[in-house]
Amino acid sequence: MARYRGAVCRICRRLGEKLYLKGEKCYTPRCPFERRPFAPGQRSMRRRKVSDRGLQLREKQKGRASYGILERQFRRYYEEAARRTGITGDNLLRILELRLDNVVYRLGFADSRAQARQLVRHGHISLNGRKADIPSHVVKLNDVIAWTVRGAKSEFYAVAQEQIKGRTPPSWLTLEAEKMMGRVLAAPVPEEIG
Ligand code: SF4
Repeated sequence: MARYRGAVCRICRRLGEKLYLKGEKCYTPRCPFERRPFAPGQRSMRRRKVSDRGLQLREKQKGRASYGILERQFRRYYEEAARRTGITGDNLLRILELRLDNVVYRLGFADSRAQARQLVRHGHISLNGRKADIPSHVVKLNDVIAWTVRGAKSEFYAVAQEQIKGRTPPSWLTLEAEKMMGRVLAAPVPEEIG
């Protein structure tokens, strides 16, 4: 499963928007976008008129980068979204939101999608009581997301326990903070995604 391994802060600077890919760092003055809010590179200060196609491409790149997905997989998600009835953009967001790594992030078990992906890959997360180590797995209604025995012994578990206190997950998820467990209640609501 391939993923982007470059400097993610450059993506924010290139796309001209904070995408919150680094978790806690994004909310501090150490955020590179706060210090240098212009595109990286020597000619970055040069003003260029962006075409409609350029704007569309930029929006697509934002979505792709936010969920940490490479082009080919994103295209597959798009094709699946286009096949379904309803608004393709909303369908696409729903598919992306239901990825296991995203659900782990939305429940507050990780402070970024990249960290959530790592938790899943390292076998710290269970789905319906069984270890689930595929970040792109699409969860279904009533699926229960929790920590594996191994995950509960990890340093991330204690951090996440603190992190989720007083946290409200999106309306389509429930969170039982004491049990460190979440459940999918409904389909994601595009208006809530942001
Ligand atoms: Fe983007 Fe976060 Fe890096 Fe800031 S710290 S540039 S918001 S990824």
